[in-house]
Amino acid sequence: MKRTSSKGSSSHDASCVNCGSPDRPIKAKGYCARCYPIALRLEHTQGWDAFQPTTLRDYPKGFNYSPNHWENDFPRIKEHTIRELKKRLLHFERLEEKLSGRIDGFDVEQKLRHLGMQAGAKRNALPRCTEIFDRSFTLKQRKILFKLLTEMTESIKWDGITLRGFEWHIGNVEA
Ligand SMILES: [Zn+2]
Repeated sequence: MKRTSSKGSSSHDASCVNCGSPDRPIKAKGYCARCYPIALRLEHTQGWDAFQPTTLRDYPKGFNYSPNHWENDFPRIKEHTIRELKKRLLHFERLEEKLSGRIDGFDVEQKLRHLGMQAGAKRNALPRCTEIFDRSFTLKQRKILFKLLTEMTESIKWDGITLRGFEWHIGNVEA
């Protein structure tokens, strides 16, 4: 979902072609500095050719393979990497959509729960508090809180393409 920048309508004001953020400076090819590295990596990955090692740019670390299994494993590794990169781009798009829209108590509760779990808290450590945020906070207040919490969750380092994630996928989807 693309939005119009609140800063005016001059021609250099542009929104990222992926996430639609009007506030993030455009890095290249219409992507903001956050989305561009992922989009570029996706482009590289889509060009991988198992028989041309020079095409294997941004091949994920730790994905060693047995030459005997290469023919079978390579397409799965490539497919998995493409899927994860697309998920990452979608995550940025959804996030900006969320930030530009209405924030309700449930959104704040979910964000707090997510942060708590990242910090090692139990899933049920936070009581249900949707109503507290809906009743005691105005929309503007919820939005401010949600944005601040989002800044924290987004500062958590992305795991990237991991062998563990690949194996999990293989085990769960292809089993
Ligand atoms: Zn972007």
